[in-house]
Amino acid sequence: MIFSNLIYRIVFLKKKKFLFLFLFASIIDSIFALLAVYSLVPVIDFMSTQRSTVLNEALSFYFNFISYFGIPFTLINSLVIFLSLTIFSSLIAVFLFYVSRQFSYSIVYELRSWALYKFYGQGLTFINSYSFGIMQNTFEREINKVADAVFSVFQLLSVTIFTLLMISFSMELSSLMTLIILVSFGFLGFFSLFIGNKISLLSEVTVSTANKLSSKLYNPLLNAKNILSFARQDWAYKTHKNAFNIHVKAALKSQTLAFTLPELFKTLSLLIAILALFYSISRGESLTLLLATLAVFIRLLPKIANFTEAYARIKEALPSINQYSMLFPKSKKNINNLNKKVIKNFISSISLDNISFSYPSRENVLTNINIDIKKNSFVSFVGSSGSGKTTCSDIILGLYKPTLGSISIDDCPLDKIDTISYLDLVGYVQQDTILLDGSIRENLLWANPKASIDDMWDSLSLVSIDKFVKSLPTGIDSLVGERGVALSGGQKQRIALALALVRKPQILILDEVTSALDHESEIIIRQSLKSLSHKLTIISVTHRASMAEHSDMIYVFEKGSIVESGTYKELIESNKAFLNNVGSN
Ligand code: ADP
Repeated sequence: MIFSNLIYRIVFLKKKKFLFLFLFASIIDSIFALLAVYSLVPVIDFMSTQRSTVLNEALSFYFNFISYFGIPFTLINSLVIFLSLTIFSSLIAVFLFYVSRQFSYSIVYELRSWALYKFYGQGLTFINSYSFGIMQNTFEREINKVADAVFSVFQLLSVTIFTLLMISFSMELSSLMTLIILVSFGFLGFFSLFIGNKISLLSEVTVSTANKLSSKLYNPLLNAKNILSFARQDWAYKTHKNAFNIHVKAALKSQTLAFTLPELFKTLSLLIAILALFYSISRGESLTLLLATLAVFIRLLPKIANFTEAYARIKEALPSINQYSMLFPKSKKNINNLNKKVIKNFISSISLDNISFSYPSRENVLTNINIDIKKNSFVSFVGSSGSGKTTCSDIILGLYKPTLGSISIDDCPLDKIDTISYLDLVGYVQQDTILLDGSIRENLLWANPKASIDDMWDSLSLVSIDKFVKSLPTGIDSLVGERGVALSGGQKQRIALALALVRKPQILILDEVTSALDHESEIIIRQSLKSLSHKLTIISVTHRASMAEHSDMIYVFEKGSIVESGTYKELIESNKAFLNNVGSN
C-alpha cells in the first residue's frame, strides 16, 4: 500500500520527463534487440547444411525489405545487416543505461526531498523521538534501497515489454520450443516467490543492524572531544567493530540470497532452453528455426536476470520502505499551515494560560503555568536543572504544543499564527550553539540573509565582540568552527548572541547562555542584555541568580510549576524559593 503510494507519486506528480524517456528508450531497445536477432536467422540458415524451406515464411518481411532496397540475398549481405543491427542495438542499450541511471537518481532525489520536507514538518516532539542512528541510516542507506525498489518496478515493466516482443517472435520460429521454455519459466517464477519472502525476512534484520551500525559509528564521532579526553578511542573502535560485524553477517545473508535468485534463474533458464532444443529436434522441427529460437532466448537471458534481480531488490527493500514511511508520514503541519495568520510585529504581550505539558516518554513536565510577558520587558525563568524552564521556552518558541492550556501572542493563539512569520520576529540562543563551519560573515548572513554589513557590525558591537573580530587577520571573514580561529566559549557564545541580534528580533529568547561560561564572559553578556533591555522583549532561562538581576520579572520554576514570581529585589527580600533554588551567585 505504502509502496504503491510511492510509485503513484513518482508517476503522477513528478519526474514524468525521466520516466517517459526511460520507457521510450526501453521500447526502442526492445525493438532493435528484436531486429538484431531477427537478422541472425538468415545468417544461421546460410551456415546450416540443411537450408530450411519453412524459413521463407518467417523471413518474408526480411526478403521484401532487402529486395525493396535492391540488396542481393547473400551470406555477406546478411552478415553485414546482422552486425550493423547488433552494433546499433548495443548503442541503444548504452542510451537505455544512461536514461535508467538518470531516472533512478531522480527517484532518489524525490524520496530524499520528501523525507527532508516531512522531517522538518513533523515538529520537534516527533524528531526527538527517533534516534540519530535510525535517521542517519535512513537518509544515507535505506532511502537508496527504497529508490532502487521503486525503479525496479519500472524496470519490470521495461523488461516485460522486451520479453513479450521476443517471445512473440520466438513463437513464430518454434512454438513448441517456446512453450516448453515458458512453462518451465512459470515453475521457476513460482519457486522464486518463496525465495523472495525469505529475502524480505533476512533484509529486516539487515535494516535494524544498519540502524545500530550508524549510531555506533556516528555518535562517538560526534562526541570526539569526550572520547579523546577520556582516552576511550579503543572503546570507539571496538563499538564500531562489533556493530559492523553483526551488520555484515546479516547483510551477507540477505545480499547473497538476493544475488543467488537471478543467478539460479539464469543457469536454469539456459539448461531449460538447451533441453527444449533437443526435445524439439527429436520432434523433427527445423534446426535453423530452433537455433534462431535459442538465439532469441540467449538474448533474453540477461533481461530475465534483470527481471529476477528487480524482483529480489523489491523484496529486499520492503523493510526499508516500512522504515521510510514510518519516519516520514504525511505531514499534518504543512496541511494545517494554510490559512494561518501572518504577523509582522509583536505588539503587546505573550500569554501562557494554564499550560501543562508532557513528553511522550515523560509526563507532567509542566503543570498549570500562567505567565504574561509584556512587550519590551525582560523576563527570567530561574530554577534548578530539570525544573522545566527550557521546555517552557521551547513552548514559547512554538517547538512544542502544550498538552493542556494555550499560548497566545497578542491575544491570537500561537497555533493559529503562521510559524515562519512568528519566528522571523524571534532571536534564539541556546547553551551549546554550534556555529556553521564558515566565516563570521557567513554565519551572520545565515542568521539573516538580508543583513547589511552595518547590521553585522552593529550586532557584533552589541555583544562587545567587534574589536576582537576587527583584530583578526581576516576580520569578519575569519573562519570559525573546526577549520577556523579558535574561539573561547565566551567568544563563541557572544557570536551566537550576535547571530540572534542580527535578525533584529522583537523577542529574544536565551536558554542558559552563560551557564558554561567563566565569570568575566558572563559579565560581558549580562552588560549586553542590560543595554538591550526595554528595547526588545527578552526571555532568559538561567539557573544563576546574577543573570536575572536586571529582569523586570522573575519566574521561579520547581518540578514543573511556578512557585514564586516577582522582581529580583522582591524575591531576595522574601527569602524563599528563589534563593533556595539558585543561591545568590
Ligand atoms: P530545565 O531547563 O529546567 O533544566 P527541562 O525543561 O530541560 O528543564 O526538562 C524538564 C524535564 O523534562 C526534565 O526532567 C527532563 O529530563 C525532561 N525532558 C527534557 N527534554 C525531554 C525530552 N525530549 N524527552 C523526554 N523528557 C525530556
